[in-house]
Amino acid sequence: MTPYSPGKPISEVKRELGLDTVVKLASNENPLGPSPKAISAVEAAAKDMHLYPDGAAFDLRAAISRKFGLPGDQIVMGNGSDELIHFLGLLLLGSPEDEVIVGDPSFVRYDSAADLAPATLVKVPLDSNQRHDLTAMAARASVHTKLIFIANPNNPTGTIVRKPELDSFLKDLPAQVTVVLDEAYFEFAADVPGYPNSVEYVKDGQPVVGLRTFSKAYGLAGIRIGYAFAPADIADGLERAREPFNVNSLAQVAAIAALSDEDHVRRTVENNRLGMERMVTCLHEHGAKTWESFGNFVYADLGRPSAPVYQSLLKEGIIIRSGDVFGAPNCARITVGTEAEVNAFIEALNKVMDPSLLSVAAH
Ligand SMILES: *Cc1c(COP(=O)(O)O)cnc(C)c1O
Repeated sequence: MTPYSPGKPISEVKRELGLDTVVKLASNENPLGPSPKAISAVEAAAKDMHLYPDGAAFDLRAAISRKFGLPGDQIVMGNGSDELIHFLGLLLLGSPEDEVIVGDPSFVRYDSAADLAPATLVKVPLDSNQRHDLTAMAARASVHTKLIFIANPNNPTGTIVRKPELDSFLKDLPAQVTVVLDEAYFEFAADVPGYPNSVEYVKDGQPVVGLRTFSKAYGLAGIRIGYAFAPADIADGLERAREPFNVNSLAQVAAIAALSDEDHVRRTVENNRLGMERMVTCLHEHGAKTWESFGNFVYADLGRPSAPVYQSLLKEGIIIRSGDVFGAPNCARITVGTEAEVNAFIEALNKVMDPSLLSVAAH
């Protein structure tokens, strides 16, 4: 297996380069931080951390159930949605003959779910618009296919598939296939016309599992909590597979509070819209190509190897994600920051992409 290489932590970059301020635009975290309500909830619950958490996460599942109108026994909590991706592999894959279909590039943890089983991984290139090629993916489905992962919006490209194409894709699949709609960036795309919502498919009895997380728009990446909407039999299997106390007590109260703070999510989405516009304009000024992103990050083809640009930005105190990890060496994925962070990114990019400076450096 290829080990997961996470975005560089801020502390490491500060230490290595002797920088005081470092802006991390590499892991799609919420630049506005957690909801203040989540912080208060964690502070209040801290005195009880000698007690085991509620293993059933009853209050949280009830809150999610109310919000989305799905019965609690079809909602499964995970220590981040990463954990649920892992468990879906354990539950639904059993032999090397089993196949998992993923987009390429897409979220790398899907590959691990297949590798750990071990099952056979089938990678289907995205189309020329960096979108999941549902026609090509359906064509690869066979009697061996057990799982298909679709990140919607896709990580790292930010593109989405829409309802009509997803509907016809689902109609044509062999009966034994489960489709996982990974909606880690749901809140950023929710208002886009035609954006499909996994809950509706699960309610409709389709063989679909929806994955959501509190790590992105809700700003709780460090406390690790995500969840799945699933058909009852898969939810039951996931419940058996997970550890009884996989979601800690602080994460549970933080998530309940975050879920109730719709204002914070609204501010987050609005900050993202404004920042993305400015970042995209700047990238275009430097000749980069971008694709419309429905997440909280921009995917850009810099028209030249992105690794040296990544290194130069690092020296300016800006951490981005270089495309090498996605098999796209000319591309980069950059998280939208706060207004000040976007300013810093733009200033640094202007500096490192300035052709006159490049030639000076070359001498
Ligand atoms: C960030 C991300 C996740 C992981 O979320 P956690 O809940 O923090 O584990 C899952 N899927 C995609 C596509 C992501 O980008």
